[in-house]
Amino acid sequence: MPSLTRAEATARAAAVEVREYEVDLDLTGEGETFGARTTVRFAARPGASTFLEFEPVSVGSVTLNGAPVPAGAMDGERLHLSGLAESNELVVDAVMRYSNTGEGLHRYVDPADGSTYLYQHMFINNAGRILPSFDQPDMKASFKISVTAPAGWLVAANGPLVAGKDGRWEFAPTKPISTYLCSLIAGPYHAVTDEHDGIPLALYARAALAEPLEAEAPEIFQVTKQCLDRFHEIFKIRYPFGHYQQAFAPEFNFGAMEYPGLVVFRDEFIYRSAVTESEREHRANVIAHEMAHMWFGDLVTMAWWDDLWLNESFAEYLGTRIAAEATRFPGTWTTFAMQRKAWGLRADQHPSTHPVAPAEVTDTDQALLNFDGISYAKGAAVLKQLVAWVGDDAFLAGVNAHFEAHAYGNATLADLLGALSAASGRDLTAWADVWLRRAQVNTLRTEVTRQDGAYTSVAVLQTAPEQFLTLRPHKVGIGLYDRTAEGAVVLRKRVEVEIQAAERTEITELAGEPVADLLLLNDGDLTYAKIRLDEESTAAVPALLPLLDDSLARAVLWASTLDAVVDGERPVAELVTLVLAALPVESEVVVVEDVLRATRSLVDRYSTPETRPAALELVAQAADRLLAVSEPGGSRQLAAARGLIGATVDVNRLRGWLEGRDVPEGLAIDADLRWLIVYRLAVLGAAGTAMIDAEFERDRSATGEQWAARSRAARPDAEAKAAAWEAIIGDATLSNRLVEMTASGFWQAEQLDLVRPYVARYFAEMPGMMRLRSGMSAEKTATYAYPNVMVEPATRSLAAELLATGDLDPILRRVVEDADDDLRRALAARF
Ligand SMILES: [Zn+2]
Repeated sequence: MPSLTRAEATARAAAVEVREYEVDLDLTGEGETFGARTTVRFAARPGASTFLEFEPVSVGSVTLNGAPVPAGAMDGERLHLSGLAESNELVVDAVMRYSNTGEGLHRYVDPADGSTYLYQHMFINNAGRILPSFDQPDMKASFKISVTAPAGWLVAANGPLVAGKDGRWEFAPTKPISTYLCSLIAGPYHAVTDEHDGIPLALYARAALAEPLEAEAPEIFQVTKQCLDRFHEIFKIRYPFGHYQQAFAPEFNFGAMEYPGLVVFRDEFIYRSAVTESEREHRANVIAHEMAHMWFGDLVTMAWWDDLWLNESFAEYLGTRIAAEATRFPGTWTTFAMQRKAWGLRADQHPSTHPVAPAEVTDTDQALLNFDGISYAKGAAVLKQLVAWVGDDAFLAGVNAHFEAHAYGNATLADLLGALSAASGRDLTAWADVWLRRAQVNTLRTEVTRQDGAYTSVAVLQTAPEQFLTLRPHKVGIGLYDRTAEGAVVLRKRVEVEIQAAERTEITELAGEPVADLLLLNDGDLTYAKIRLDEESTAAVPALLPLLDDSLARAVLWASTLDAVVDGERPVAELVTLVLAALPVESEVVVVEDVLRATRSLVDRYSTPETRPAALELVAQAADRLLAVSEPGGSRQLAAARGLIGATVDVNRLRGWLEGRDVPEGLAIDADLRWLIVYRLAVLGAAGTAMIDAEFERDRSATGEQWAARSRAARPDAEAKAAAWEAIIGDATLSNRLVEMTASGFWQAEQLDLVRPYVARYFAEMPGMMRLRSGMSAEKTATYAYPNVMVEPATRSLAAELLATGDLDPILRRVVEDADDDLRRALAARF
C-alpha cells in the first residue's frame, strides 16, 4: 500500500463524508483469492474529486451513481473518482488476494488438520487489501458485512449476526467506526459462549485448539467479566458495542487488536502446555488493554496517527491498572516496572527516539514505525506520572468528560489536555510540553551527606543526555529501608516529593533522618527516569536485594542494575554474580523470568567470546539453584527450568529430560518444554534434522511447525544456515510467523565463525527482502535477522555503509540504526 500522507488525509476529509460500507465477501473459492462486492455511500462537495485505497487482483465492475467508472481510474493502489454528486454510491465488484503477512485477509492452513483459517487486519493502511475505502481514522462509517463461506465454517464480525444459514452469514451494521477497526474471522473455529451483565460473550480458536480453549475459557471469561465491571465503575459510558467476542487467531502480528465487538488475539494465548503465573498475568493484562481501547481508541478515536499514543499509552496504562485492581493478578505494576519500562527506556535512547506525542507524523509509514516502546510503555509510565501529578479523581473526571464530548468521533491531544486541565484545575501546558512533546529520558540520582549516623542532606540530581537538554518535574517516592536484627529488610519511612525541573532538588523532608541501609529513589515506581542510587546504597544492593520483601521495590532495583550494565557503567560479570546470589531466593516469577532473559542476552553480547562460557555457566548455575528450591509444579520451577535449558551446555542432562530421566519432581516435560530442549540441543549441535523431524511428527501442530523451523535454522551446520538464509531473504511463500521463527533461530553466540559470512549478506541482501515483504512482517524479519551477536567493529562498518545509502527503505533504516546503536554500546562495554 502506498503511504497516505497527512496532507492527503486532511484534504480528503474536507471533501468527503463517508456514511456506510456494505461489504459482501465470497470466501468459497479455492486458492489465493476471494471475491468482494462493496457498496460505499458518501456525501461530497458537488463536483469534487477524491480517491479510495484499493488493491484488487482484478476488477469486474466499478460504477459511481449508476454509471461505469473508466478503467483509467485505477492508478497504482488508488481508485480515483471525479465529478462527485452531493450524495454518492460507489459499487465495486472485485477479486482480492489473501495475504500471509498478517495484513488484509490473512490465510492460514493448520498443519494439525489441514483446515483453513482467515482473519482480517486492516490496520494501519491495509483496508484496500479487502475493499475500496477511505482508509484514515477520522473518516468513520458504519460497516455492514455479509459473507458466503464454505460449509462447516464459523464467521464472526464486529456486529451481531442477524442471519446465518447454509454458509451465508449476515451481520448487523456497526456503529460509526474507523476503517482500521473493522474485523472479521472465518474458518472452522471452535466457539465457547457466556454472558455477563447483559453483554453476550464469546471465545473462538482453531478446532485443533478446542480442548485447551475449553480448559482456558473459565479464566478468560472471569478476567473479562471482572474487567468489564471495573471499567463500568470508573467510566460513565457503558461498554458501547453490544456483544464482546474474543477470537484467538493464528500468526497474528500483534499481541492482540482492539476491534470493537470482536477483539482478535494471537492464539499463543490459548495455552496447550504448562505456563507460568506471569504468562497468565500477561494475558489478563492484554484482555484489559484491549477492553480499555473500546473507550480509548474505538469510541473516541485519534484524528490522525500523531495521536497514536492516545490509543496505546492509555490502553497500556489502564490495562495494567485494571488488571491489578480487578483480577487475581495484583502484581501487574511490578511487571510494568521490570519489563515494560525497560522496553520504553531502550526505545527512548535509540537514535530513532521521538516524543510520546510527536508534533507531526507525516504519513502512515512513519506512523507504523512509532508503534514502539515509546508509544506504549513510556507513554503509560508518563500517564502514571500524570495521575500522581493531578490526582486520580481529577484524572478520571477529565477522561470521562473527554469521552462524553467526543463519543463516536475523533479527538486530539489538545482536546484531552483541555479536559484534564479543566478537571484538575492545573494548567498542564508546561507539563505536556516537557513530558509529551520532547523525547529522551532523564537520569535521577540521589546524593547524600551524613554525619553521626544521620543524613545532613539528601538531594536528587537530574541530568539529561547531552543533545537533549530537557529537565522535567517529577513526583517521586523515596523509601528508607533498614535491615532488621532478624535479617529482613523493611521500609522505615517513605516520602512522596515533587522534584523540580532543575539539576538539583533538596529533599528537606529527609534531612536529620537516621541513615538507612538502602535509600531507594523512585520507590513505588511513580516516575519515568533512569534511576541511580547513592554510593552506599548501590554497594548494599547485592546484600539487601534478596531480603527485600516488597516485589515492586526489588523490580525497581533490578531494573536499575540491568540498565547500568546496558549503559556500560557496571560489568556484566558483576551482574552475573548478583544473579547467582539473589535469583535463587527471588519469589516473584516475572522478576525471575525477566532477569534470566535480560542477563542471558547481556552475557551473549557484553562478554567476549573468551569470557562468555564461564558467565553462561554461572547463569545456568543460578537457574539450577532456583530449580532445586522451587515448589514442584509451580511457576518458579517452570521459569527456572526454562532458564536452565537456555543456558546449559549439559547435553546429557537435556537428553535425559526428553527421555524422562532425572526430571525434577513436578516438572511436566510437555510439548512446549520438549521443543525448548530440542531447540537448545540444536544450537549445541546435539539435535540433527532427524530428531527435529521426529519431534514435528510427534507434535504436528502450528506451534510444532514454528519450533521446527526455528530449530532447523539454529543448527551449527553450513547447509542448515544456507537453507535458513534463503528462506529469510527470498521465500515469499513463507508466512510471517515462520520467517520470524527462522530468523530468530539463525544467529547464535555459540556459532560465531559459522555465521560470520552472513553479516555482510545481511547488509547486502536485506534491502531486497524489504521489497518482498511489507509492513510489520518486513520490520520483524529485518529485526530478528540482525546479526546482533556479532559484536565486532566490522559489523558496525557494514551498517554505516548501508546507512549511507540514500534511498534506503525507511523501516530498514530504522531497524539498522537502532540495532547498530545497541551494538555500539555492547562493543564499548567490552573494552
Ligand atoms: Zn493497544
